[in-house]
Amino acid sequence: MIHYTLRCGNGHSFDSWFRNSDAFDQLAAAREVLCPHCADHRVERGIMAPNVVSSRNRAVAPVEGEAAPAPAEPTAPSETPAATEPTPAQMRQMLREMRRMVEQTHTYVGPAFAEEARKIHNGEVEHQPIYGEATPAEAEALAEDGISVARMPWVPINDA
Ligand SMILES: [Zn+2]
Repeated sequence: MIHYTLRCGNGHSFDSWFRNSDAFDQLAAAREVLCPHCADHRVERGIMAPNVVSSRNRAVAPVEGEAAPAPAEPTAPSETPAATEPTPAQMRQMLREMRRMVEQTHTYVGPAFAEEARKIHNGEVEHQPIYGEATPAEAEALAEDGISVARMPWVPINDA
């Protein structure tokens, strides 16, 4: 499962869970991801924090019955207008903005990420949003223990 903060065309933001990023793309393309506030289908992914950990029952868990439109099974793939695909430059810009946001709102724990995530999950330290680096194996192990993390490309803040 993957957690996204989404934003609709009218500026509402809400959280939802998807089986994986492909599932989100398909549902969004089929206009089946609707804003819970105004039913707008122009929904975009907002911030996807890198390696943000949250134990399932805490802060970032989906709000039952409020947001989170239940993702239906993807229907037949519908046309994805190429015009709406962001250009690589736009993608980099989006990723840079995400990075800035994460840096402002999360505590950097570096390579100790997996360890810190586990401590938070186990209640050994106070729950807080963190980010850092983890190997794919570490991320896998966290997922197996029910600790959800999000990954994102960590782009340089300035164009090289
Ligand atoms: Zn809305």
